[in-house]
Formats: sequence, structure tokens, C-alpha cells
Amino acid sequence: MKFLNDMKLGSRPCPWYERAKASTRKRQAEWLKRRVVEAYFQQHYDMFDQTVAAFNLPPPPSKKRRLDSLMQEFYLRPNAGLQSEFHGRRHDHGLTECPYCGNPLIPDTLDHFLPKEDWPEYAILANNLVPQCRSCAPIKGRRYYCSTHRRAMFLHPMYSAVLSSVQFKINVSLRAGRPNFEIIFGAARTTAPVDVIRIEQHLREMKVMGRMLEFCVRHWSHWRHKVKTLGIDIEALFRLELGQTSSGEYGPDWATAFKKGVLRDADSLAALNTKPPTPTAPIEELIELNVR
Ligand SMILES: [Zn+2]
Repeated sequence: MKFLNDMKLGSRPCPWYERAKASTRKRQAEWLKRRVVEAYFQQHYDMFDQTVAAFNLPPPPSKKRRLDSLMQEFYLRPNAGLQSEFHGRRHDHGLTECPYCGNPLIPDTLDHFLPKEDWPEYAILANNLVPQCRSCAPIKGRRYYCSTHRRAMFLHPMYSAVLSSVQFKINVSLRAGRPNFEIIFGAARTTAPVDVIRIEQHLREMKVMGRMLEFCVRHWSHWRHKVKTLGIDIEALFRLELGQTSSGEYGPDWATAFKKGVLRDADSLAALNTKPPTPTAPIEELIELNVR
């Protein structure tokens, strides 16, 4: 999970809105020429930071419902300039884990932190669009405010520095020869109590524990297969991959926590490190196939 402060852009003017204004699509161009439309969006863009910060209040409902389809159209049918911004945010971010959940996959989709269906005025606001993994996307979906707990369900990766302090620990053990995984979450001791509550809710709403358990089962099978087929030494490989992150029991992402967990438990490590098979016969000489 990651604080993406560097990704945050200005909202007056929002560079993405400026891109939208260059649209040559007739309907989009006509609307964006109207000063009243620009004033409306600027007024909302000015309030966005405040709305995210006021996490214990439901965001004001969208008023100009007749602009819904237009604003969603800017997102769904962007002009070339805006499309290039979306592509950059979706793919050229340098992230190696999902900022929302810590899944060690390169995020390749975008999340509207304030859902575009309910707050279409933020459909193309740069600070409302966050790179996300595809597992998080259907879980977060259109949800935002929890009226039971009276607070936003999620932390915004561009606004919540505390996300970077969340770490994962996985205790691995063997029960009747089968691996058992215990997932533990940690945050910096200095984290404010209100932030601890929000992190816990964020993790629950994103169903991170269940998804990490599934991840562990998949990775156990993956590494077991690698040992059996390639005869690799799991202990040496995990220690090499962990490198300098090998101190402490927690890791910043699920894969690191999994490797540390396996290395901490001698029985689990031995169960993964089964003997390599006898070498298979070398593949005989190949001929090229013509499939053109
Ligand atoms: Zn995710």
C-alpha cells in the first residue's frame, strides 16, 4: 500500500480539464465553451480536497444531474490528449504493488475515488483517479461512504500518508502436512488512533485478509511446483530476493511477507524444499515449423 503524494496535481486549473477543453467532439466542445459550465466544475474542483478531508461527512450530492452523461462521456470517450493522460496514470506510474491493497502486481486500471456515477463532476479530475489492481476494482466499485460508521470506507492513496506505513506479516505453519497461513497487519506505532480505525476499515472493506489467504495458497503451490520441476533451493532464492528487506517479520507487500513467513518456520521451509527430481533426458534436436 502506498502514499502517492507525487501523483497529486493542481485543481486550479486541473490539467486534465484543460485537456478536455481542447476536445473537437461537437457535444463536448459546445458544453465546455459555456462559462457557467466551467464555473460549475471549478467550484467543485476547489472543494475536492476539502471533501476528501471531511471523511466523516457524506460528500454533498451532485446537483447538476443533467450533466451526468456529459461528464461520464469525457471519461468514457476522451479526446486524444485526455486519453494520453489516462494512459499515463494507468500504466506509466512505476508502481510494483497496488496502492489500495498491497497486492504485488503492477496496477493497470483506474479507480474513481469518488465514484463517477454519483459525483460525475469529478469524472476527469486528475486527483480523483487512482491506479488500482484489477482485484480491488470490483470490490471497491461504486461504494464510498458508510452511513453505519459515519465515515468514508477507504483511504485515498494521494491524500493519506498513513497508507505507506501499513505492513503485512504472514505466519506459516504446517498442520497435518498442509500449510496454514495467519495474516497480521501492522502500522507505525505513532499512527493516530483515528487513522488506525480508518486503516482497519479500509483493509476490511477491501477484503484484504481473504485475498491474502488465497494468494498464500496459490504461492505455496507455485513454489512447490518450481522446486519439484526445477530443483531450486527455496531458502537461498527467498533470501536473495528479500535482500535488504530481510530484517523484521513484516513486509511492505504480500509476496515479501509470504517469503519471510516461510523462512521463519523450519518445517514449512523443509516441506517446500523437497528433493529435486532426477534430470530429464535432454530434448532432441528440433526442426523449425512453418506456420506463416
Ligand atoms: Zn489492489
